[in-house]
Amino acid sequence: MFDYDINSANLKDKTILVVGAGAGIGKAAALTYAKLGATVILLGKTVKKLEAVYDEIIALGYPEPAIIPLDLKGATKQNYIDMSATIAQQFGKLDGALLNASMLGELSPFTQIHEQIYDDVMNVNVKAQFLLAQALIPSLLLAENASLIFTSSGVGNQGRAYWGPYSMSKFATEGMMQIIADEYESSNLRTNAINPGATRTAMRASAYPAEDKEKLATAEEIMPLYVYLMSDDSKETNGQVLKAQ
Ligand code: NDP
Repeated sequence: MFDYDINSANLKDKTILVVGAGAGIGKAAALTYAKLGATVILLGKTVKKLEAVYDEIIALGYPEPAIIPLDLKGATKQNYIDMSATIAQQFGKLDGALLNASMLGELSPFTQIHEQIYDDVMNVNVKAQFLLAQALIPSLLLAENASLIFTSSGVGNQGRAYWGPYSMSKFATEGMMQIIADEYESSNLRTNAINPGATRTAMRASAYPAEDKEKLATAEEIMPLYVYLMSDDSKETNGQVLKAQ
């Protein structure tokens, strides 16, 4: 596991957007950031799941979160611009954004990849991240130290048979992260990507239905890197792909 003491981090007074906060790794990150004092903005597709995370945060006595229901598949550039402007208006700045939502699509031989699956995966995993990042950067630049975090994968810099559009989308994600990191190198904004490694979530179960889930790290266990990259302890880290485990 990435070596960082979560309890040494202070996220008080930080406003952090978690994209894909309703389930899996994003849910664990939202709860962890809130526990450490951050006000989290929960963005995701399924309102019920976001409300359940909201209720859990309130029940635990953490700072009250905000909810933004949005399907990245159908969202427009204007949706993202409006969202970022609302965040800046309501909170004055955005200290961090974890771009974590993505879809797996279908694992299949290359010649059998459906064009529709390719389009959907690229839309959610690449274009939506691109539009989100474009819209969020102005709000992130209002913070004293801001962190933009993309989510890659083991197939994000090494292609693997049958992983088709998902793998291609993660290569694009790493490229996008490097471009932004380079452009904003001498600013208050740092940009990095996390490779979570095999983690016990619904997405992992759909990619590997037969494996023993008990052997996988839980989303809670991989949180040290997620917290490190959001805390000011990582303010000199830029343009990296870091492994959570
Ligand atoms: P899950 O499928 O468990 O969770 C994904 C989250 O993203 C859900 O909250 C989901 O919302 C949301 N989401 C998916 N599509 C959309 C959409 N169109 N619009 C808005 N929100 C959406 O995945 P994981 O937690 O496993 O994965 C999180 C990230 O980590 C992903 O980027 C994944 O590629 C990456 N990753 C995961 C690994 C693993 O082993 N789990 C390994 C390597 C990388 P809803 O539930 O409402 O659909």
